[in-house]
Amino acid sequence: MSYQLTIEPLGATIEVEEGQTLLDAALRQGIYIPHACGHGLCGTCKVQVCDGEVDHGHANPFALMDFERDAGKALACCATLQSDGTIEADIDEDPDAQMIPVRDFLTTVSRIETLTPTIKAIYLKLDQPLHFQAGQYVQLVIPGIEGGRAFSIANSPAQVQATGEIELNVRRVPGGAGTAWLHQTLKVGDSLQVSGPYGRFLVRKSAQLPLIFMAGGSGLSSPRSMIHDLLEEKSQQPMTLVYGQRTREELYYDDQFRALVSQYPHFTYVPTLSGEPEGSDWAGARGFVHDVAKAHFGGTFAGNQAYLCGPPVMIEACIATLMQGRLFERDIYTEKFFSAADANQQRSPLFKRV
Ligand SMILES: Cc1cc2nc3c(=O)[nH]c(=O)nc-3n(C[C@H](O)[C@H](O)[C@H](O)COP(=O)(O)OP(=O)(O)OC[C@H]3O[C@@H](n4cnc5c(N)ncnc54)[C@H](O)[C@@H]3O)c2cc1C
Repeated sequence: MSYQLTIEPLGATIEVEEGQTLLDAALRQGIYIPHACGHGLCGTCKVQVCDGEVDHGHANPFALMDFERDAGKALACCATLQSDGTIEADIDEDPDAQMIPVRDFLTTVSRIETLTPTIKAIYLKLDQPLHFQAGQYVQLVIPGIEGGRAFSIANSPAQVQATGEIELNVRRVPGGAGTAWLHQTLKVGDSLQVSGPYGRFLVRKSAQLPLIFMAGGSGLSSPRSMIHDLLEEKSQQPMTLVYGQRTREELYYDDQFRALVSQYPHFTYVPTLSGEPEGSDWAGARGFVHDVAKAHFGGTFAGNQAYLCGPPVMIEACIATLMQGRLFERDIYTEKFFSAADANQQRSPLFKRV
């Protein structure tokens, strides 16, 4: 059984299977609706239901408040149709985004490496080629867990094409069932169902502006893919990575980025540690990403384009610092690594995009 869904302002009508979410149906049929967490936590995929009946599924009550439900809003990543319907979605034209329909992949775990005490690199061999833009993410189906879990692809499209493997850098979230399973139960040789690619966190290459990447924790994954992609394409755009971890042992891929600096004069790398013990042999910057970026750029960011990736609290702090330094929403792109713990957090009132 299926229903017809019309998506405004495009006027496109698509088929939605019973039990299929509106977002899944749209993305698989080549229609982009803004989205992020993919399982009802962040509210990025909020749409207006103009006509028809929806079931809100497991939409988090903070991401979709009661008054919003009453006003006909729904989260496309959770809502399913109970009749034919029409929705209005916030669909922007983006000349740098390719519309790549979401597909399912059956992957095999080919390697697992411990990057830090809390982050593992998981390599997944794909059963068919995956076309994606650097910065995008996939959703993993984790046995026994409702809703997919989002992880950004940490290697570049060219590397994925050459090896047939995607690399995911998974931080174990305290109390999180999905990441606990990935860290403790998953082993080499296991099969894992993956869908993708998702998201619009991608470099707006057409702008040709100097690039600032700000990453915290496992939020390094998307910027790493983007930086490798740009360097592989021989882009000459100046780019700076400000990368924060708490301690030296958590600063994974540090050697790799230092090697890139010696190879590419237009790439600058600024690692910073916020919790490194005083008196250790760490000679680099200390403090949070936003403060260190402010010091590095002398407090002025105008004329750049910034890409922020990591925990929501880091992103909010970076947005405030960038705006104080005269860089505004048009030139700031973010990927918030939402987990259920972040569902009820406040968002920046200064920033429209989630
Ligand atoms: C677009 C995107 C890309 C991402 N990419 C990456 C990546 O590359 N690497 C990476 O490591 N992470 C990434 N993440 C984050 C990752 O998806 C989450 O860490 C993961 O989904 C957590 O799943 P979980 O099942 O372990 O924990 P969850 O079930 O999400 O729980 C996390 C924590 O929240 C608590 N919690 C549960 N419900 C509530 C509630 N209602 N209120 C308060 N607390 C609650 C839990 O007890 C637990 O402590 C990304 C996220 C997004 C949205």
